[in-house]
Amino acid sequence: MNEISCGVCMDLMPLVNDGIAGEESVQAVEEHIKTCEGCRSHYEEKTVPPTDPGKAFGEVKRRLKGFLGMIMVFGILFGLGLTEGSGIFFNIILMPVMGAIGYFIFGWNALWEVSVLIFSMRIVINALPLIQGSEKLNFGSVLEWSAIYVAFALAGAVIAGLVHFAFRKEEN
Ligand SMILES: [Zn+2]
Repeated sequence: MNEISCGVCMDLMPLVNDGIAGEESVQAVEEHIKTCEGCRSHYEEKTVPPTDPGKAFGEVKRRLKGFLGMIMVFGILFGLGLTEGSGIFFNIILMPVMGAIGYFIFGWNALWEVSVLIFSMRIVINALPLIQGSEKLNFGSVLEWSAIYVAFALAGAVIAGLVHFAFRKEEN
């Protein structure tokens, strides 16, 4: 039997206490508390709180949202980078998808969160050459394309919201 660490022991204890741990886990915990004073006192007093599935699910959801947030930021950056080339039409698909991801992360707040994100990133991207002193910032073009992208992204967010709403209605 492999030795387990105190951390692993603490994680397993609630499962053992609740009687849902597998045989190997039970054995591992029992082996560990034979030699570990600290974990034994926790085990005997049952001071380790039982696992909360809701909390675990919340953590997974939080991480998923963080991951999707990264995809969204990079997706929008990528889309904005396509503006000067022929790949610009790819944004007809890309921006609504990013908007839909935004809805999943922020809910209806995505409508303004995503708008602000697109506008500010577009301004930053266009301001970069300005800092190097090579070009003039064309505010007209910044606002024009941003507005179109935001419109596409918002359409995606609204569609995602409506689909979500429809499914929720069906559940009730
Ligand atoms: Zn221990």
